[in-house]
Amino acid sequence: MSTAISSFINVGERTNVTGSARFKKLIMGGDYPTALEVARQQIENGAQIIDVNMDEGLLDSKEAMVTFLNLVAAEPDISRVPVMIDSSKWEVIEAGLKCVQGKAVVNSISLKEGEESFLEQADLLRRYGAAVVVMAFDEEGQADTADRKFEICKRSYDLLVEKAGFPPTDIIFDPNIFAVATGIEEHDNYAVDFIEATRRIKQAMPLVHISGGVSNISFSFRGNNPVREAMHSAFLYHAIKAGMDMGIVNAGQITVYDDIPEELREHVEDVLLNRRSDSTERLLAIADKYKGDGEAQKKEDPKWREAEVNERIRHALVHGITDYIVDDTEEARQKAERPLHVIEGPLMDGMNVVGDLFGEGKMFLPQVVKSARVMKTAVAHLIPFMEAEQEASGVKQAKGKILMATVKGDVHDIGKNIVGVVLQCNNYDVVDLGVMVPTEKILETAREEKVDVIGLSGLITPSLDRMVDVAAELTREGFDIPLLIGGATTSKKHTAIKIEPEYAHGVIHVDDASKAVGVVSNLLSKERRGDYLKGIAEDYARVREGRATEKEGTGVTIAQARENAFDGGWADYAPPEPAMLGEKIFASYDVGELVDYIDWTPFFHAWEMKGSYPKILDDPEKGAVARELNDAAQAMLNRIVDEKWFRPRAVLGLWPANAVGDDVEIYTDESREQVRARFHMLRQQSKKTGSRPNYALSDFIAPKDSGRADWMGGFVVSAGEEVDTIAKRYEEANDDYSAIMVKSLADRIAEAFAERMHERMRREFWGYAADEALANDALIAEKYRGIRPAPGYPACPDHTEKRILFDLLGAPKAAGVTLTESCAMWPAAAVSGFYFSHPESRYFGVGRIGRDQVEDYAARTGMSMAEVETWLSPSLAYTPERPKQAEPEKQRKSA
Ligand code: SAH
Repeated sequence: MSTAISSFINVGERTNVTGSARFKKLIMGGDYPTALEVARQQIENGAQIIDVNMDEGLLDSKEAMVTFLNLVAAEPDISRVPVMIDSSKWEVIEAGLKCVQGKAVVNSISLKEGEESFLEQADLLRRYGAAVVVMAFDEEGQADTADRKFEICKRSYDLLVEKAGFPPTDIIFDPNIFAVATGIEEHDNYAVDFIEATRRIKQAMPLVHISGGVSNISFSFRGNNPVREAMHSAFLYHAIKAGMDMGIVNAGQITVYDDIPEELREHVEDVLLNRRSDSTERLLAIADKYKGDGEAQKKEDPKWREAEVNERIRHALVHGITDYIVDDTEEARQKAERPLHVIEGPLMDGMNVVGDLFGEGKMFLPQVVKSARVMKTAVAHLIPFMEAEQEASGVKQAKGKILMATVKGDVHDIGKNIVGVVLQCNNYDVVDLGVMVPTEKILETAREEKVDVIGLSGLITPSLDRMVDVAAELTREGFDIPLLIGGATTSKKHTAIKIEPEYAHGVIHVDDASKAVGVVSNLLSKERRGDYLKGIAEDYARVREGRATEKEGTGVTIAQARENAFDGGWADYAPPEPAMLGEKIFASYDVGELVDYIDWTPFFHAWEMKGSYPKILDDPEKGAVARELNDAAQAMLNRIVDEKWFRPRAVLGLWPANAVGDDVEIYTDESREQVRARFHMLRQQSKKTGSRPNYALSDFIAPKDSGRADWMGGFVVSAGEEVDTIAKRYEEANDDYSAIMVKSLADRIAEAFAERMHERMRREFWGYAADEALANDALIAEKYRGIRPAPGYPACPDHTEKRILFDLLGAPKAAGVTLTESCAMWPAAAVSGFYFSHPESRYFGVGRIGRDQVEDYAARTGMSMAEVETWLSPSLAYTPERPKQAEPEKQRKSA
């Protein structure tokens, strides 16, 4: 065995733009001399082959490969080892082959595209005299089991040796090393599969080599280098015994197998050899103990406290640690000539690191928001000293000033606050006007504060129109600064079609916080701004052209749609009679009861952590940050429950109801003589195939002329008015992290409250599903009978119906929830909706509606055509005539 180990060939992996951020930066920046140093270091560390990979989207990979390999050829101490030309592009491989003098290794070919191209490539490689890495990959995909790995390698071998005349000694099989300990059971045997396949390949084809990318195996332990190194060494120990004789490894980063502490080695081997079902948990449980030099570890390592003060400040920023920041800032201030220098020095340095890491995708939003908290705490400490010195407060060296506002009538601000924090982290000054900001106030502040950019945010559909208003007013008042558009209902399409034509100095849709920095930096760069805006304008013009060719109008008329309404089967079906009638108020609900009803996936989305819960906690990339965020959320949630921070309030109603046309009439009592309120539903007007109906929510309520008694319900729930006060308190304490945390938790509590109330509705108050007993995931998946559509959502897109609902429920008094002029709910952590009990009731989207239905709807609701068109603008299947506020074409020319 010892001979096998000593003949093991290390392939250096650092000269790879996809695997090494540093190397990528060097190549992208054209710094080839330093890039060569990376290669040299690899060899000094023991690499016997260097893997060179230039596959990067923004790079001319072919040119980079050729340039680098030609430089390598001129360096005797590098070119003494073979080069592994690594690319997924055949032309890059061929170009590379032409540059190397000695024996080259090509990484890689496979049966992915079938036998024909496999043989073609093999034939060429043989003529170059190159050795080749063959991946265990075929037409069906990558091999994961030992059997598939072996079969594909055998098939490849036969083709290579028999058909292409390839020397077996020039074949290197890579049977795929995949990550273990991912939390996914199917992955548990991956290391065993690799080792087993290796053994069988070596037995059947003794002359070939077997290789693999070793660091893949420990991917789940990113951030914990000691555990990773132990995994690599132990894995190699077993794989080499089975016949692996080559590997892409970081040669400087492998522990000696015998040096691995006994306990760690045993736990690692349990995982690798899949020796017990709980091995992953057991390794996780001890992993933290062995953390050494990993990034995440620095936080806990008290050694950083021994560094010099500026270094400590930088460390605290990058790791989001507020504990010592006031003392450290004070120490730095005493040493500095002026307090401002502390901001311009260590604080800015630290934030630049944070900005870079976030930009490179190496830090996630929750971490950035924590860094911002450290920054703000430090700056807050310095402000009194700066004022005393009469230095202007705030950071003078800011890269630019951005005004942020949620438009009039809208209350949503989590996304806006996140963008604000991210911009501040990148050294932009942010003037945040908060929520429900009138247009005049936005313009006035923009002028007074001489801002460089205005950013608007909004969640509900009427806000789209408010944004159009702001754009038109900016034009009218002669502004020339760019306008950013963001928030849940906004879209590139709407921005291009409705907003941009109103304003000629740049209107840009920004769809997530991480993009805001890039957009703003382009806008504020004198060199790039012109080209950037031109590119956006061209892009949006194309969107408008695309729209112009889109067919207007609906599939069917409203009359035809009504003919094809959903049939509730009223002749045979009697709706269930509710156990309760009228309204029911819950003055202060216990949050503790709601915790189990929380749907956590949207919580992670609010923090820009895409993925589903609980899987995201084990994500190889985001898992660590997600777990940390989860811990912080649980900790605050516990306090919310124990210390009774919120008093969630709700009001539910259940009323006698019947459908009359597409309306639903609500009656004062069971005599059904007096109409107390009337809801107006909208009907789908698309052309349906087969037996699919054109739905309206009124279809789920028995028509008056059916003679059936039926009922409809409604609800408004809120996490409580306290949320806002608490969030403000955090904001004032410069703790955006906790402010955003408390708001995002309040949103979850409101949704959980809606879920819980709906359940109680079905089981107790209406009572048609008294025996229902569903677990939370089944509730989230809506596996129950009945729906709770929300006004403003696709099945009932008119937000103004909330006014009728709120009136009926007496929601402002009963639950403390009011509506803004745009029909947004205040407090923001609130949910409202209707209850339907029909067994076949379901969510749908009304989709585009025609002028005929709009006219009909105007008559039914008493609104003017123009009013309906405004409230339903995104749903219109035609372009309404609207008084133009500006003449954009002319503006554009004179601008
Ligand atoms: N578990 C989720 C629930 C909210 S989303 C969370 O915690 O965030 C689901 C809700 O959105 C539904 O209960 C309903 O109130 C609303 N909804 C979804 N689709 C709808 C549609 N097509 N029309 C009207 N309301 C809809």
